[in-house]
Amino acid sequence: MSVIEMSRIKREYRMGGKHNTSKKKKKGNDDGVVIVRALRGVDFSAEAGEFVSVMGPSGSGKSTLMNILGCLDKPTDGTYTLDGIETSTSNSDTFAFIRNRKIGFVFQSFNLLARTTALENVELPLFYRRADKKDSQGFHKTKSVSWRKERAMATLREVGLGERMDHFPSQLSGGQQQRVAIARAMVNDPAFILADEPTGNLDTGMTLEIMGLFQQLNNRGKTIIMVTHEPELASYTKRIITLRDGELVSDIPVQDRRDALVDLAQWKQEHALLSENT
Ligand code: ADP
Ligand code: MG
Repeated sequence: MSVIEMSRIKREYRMGGKHNTSKKKKKGNDDGVVIVRALRGVDFSAEAGEFVSVMGPSGSGKSTLMNILGCLDKPTDGTYTLDGIETSTSNSDTFAFIRNRKIGFVFQSFNLLARTTALENVELPLFYRRADKKDSQGFHKTKSVSWRKERAMATLREVGLGERMDHFPSQLSGGQQQRVAIARAMVNDPAFILADEPTGNLDTGMTLEIMGLFQQLNNRGKTIIMVTHEPELASYTKRIITLRDGELVSDIPVQDRRDALVDLAQWKQEHALLSENT
């Protein structure tokens, strides 16, 4: 079964007349109402275990697609089935449930709570789970403090941060902070991880580390959808979809996929040579 199944997804924004001075592509009508067609009938599906890049120029509809994929927004038209649940007809409770439990978000800016340790940041999504009556398997277990703590600790170990659990975000490097954010995204075992330019704030070394981590997690079966502007980063994923003017214009498997940890080792070597010579 597909994890993601989108069919003929459209998203139109209606903009009220007079105050709108933007000159983007729009169709006008007599009332001065303009319709922005941000997505014009996108078909996209992904199976468990995929690692997909979403590419396309600015304004092509990537954020709009991410918002719909992440159940932060609903399409104007079309259907989106996530892990077997039809989202377009679901009520707001179900919609929030899907967002909290089926999707793990990773943002460019990490979005960690500053006065909260790495461990507590990762535990956080498990608290929301307590009130979740739909969870038939884990309802009682998730009430226990030790269950939450152990689960968060195991997830931090999985991203290589076993030694940094009690650190605050300010005591961690950017790459380490993003690892905490990735652990937080994974702790509820979501259907997929949705990452929006996850290395946009990181230098080359940390970027390769994070891409290496994503590749490792994907090798262990995690499904990842990642928006990126950089073809180089897309070359670490398995499949690239490209949007243009709200349409999906290409959908291709990655040939000769690169290994981020191999590239990281090489980068470190070159880096060391460079600093020796200066
Ligand atoms: P990208 O993320 O690829 O840069 P977006 O999805 O943000 O593209 O935008 C796609 C199109 O939809 C653009 O023309 C943008 O101006 C328009 N758009 C995005 N969000 C809104 C909104 N909230 N209201 C009106 N138009 C929007
Ligand atoms: Mg965008």
